[in-house]
Amino acid sequence: MSHVVPLLQARQVVASRPSESGQLQRVLQETTLEVGAGEVLAVIGPSGSGKSSLLRLFNRLLEPDRGEILLAGEDIKNISPPALRARIPLVAQKLFLFPGTVRDNLQITAKLRRTALPDLNTPELLELLELCHVDSAWLDRDARKLSVGQQQRVCLARAMVGPCQALLLDEPTSALDRPTADQLALTFRQLAREKGLAIVFVTHDLRLTERCADRIAFLVNGAVVEEGSVNQILNHPATAEVRSFLSPELSGDVEVTR
Ligand code: ADP
Ligand code: MG
Repeated sequence: MSHVVPLLQARQVVASRPSESGQLQRVLQETTLEVGAGEVLAVIGPSGSGKSSLLRLFNRLLEPDRGEILLAGEDIKNISPPALRARIPLVAQKLFLFPGTVRDNLQITAKLRRTALPDLNTPELLELLELCHVDSAWLDRDARKLSVGQQQRVCLARAMVGPCQALLLDEPTSALDRPTADQLALTFRQLAREKGLAIVFVTHDLRLTERCADRIAFLVNGAVVEEGSVNQILNHPATAEVRSFLSPELSGDVEVTR
């Protein structure tokens, strides 16, 4: 897919985090990536390769040592973290719901930020709930009593209440069973296409990737070793790193046709 607007760009980003011994450890090296409006980028790689750190950089939960990150052409270092996180929310791996109803959860971010509570009856909000497959009949139910798949959808919708332009997802389906994960994959794709969001999601679920991503960036030791279309990376990997990561899966059913 050609992307006219690179909604989200990382340019030669270098980042470090203190290790347990207190020494700074490089977690990303010279990373350059872009994601267009309406596009889904899957970030894949072995554990510890820097995938979560990359998402945190986009959200200013981690600041780069060097390089720059742009949201719709604007350097994110000039956007306050709360404003940035409303425009590009991160849905963390471990889902978390506040005590209370689904409605309370959808309004909590505004409450915490002391801004006006969102009206859940506007056409935009109802459309968002529908896109996330959050049934409006759940609004007055205890959020923590929903099924895990339903809770994941509420977390997704909650993240997007606000001026959301891009979405960061960290292993969003790791707690879900296969059919629920597959459904959610379709939701991500639909959200990108219908709301023009740039979506970056971290996963090691190749089937999910195949179902909803346009492109893949493969990270090893904090560096992008391959980047390209889903078909190109999954069916014609160019590097030994990607081939060895894929090989146990390729004995299964991961032949991609698109
Ligand atoms: P991934 O998501 O691909 O598993 P991470 O981005 O979590 O990788 O980790 C990249 C590197 O950063 C690893 O070497 C890891 O040990 C280190 N790291 C992860 N979390 C923290 C943290 N909270 N503080 C310091 N270093 C961390
Ligand atoms: Mg991670």
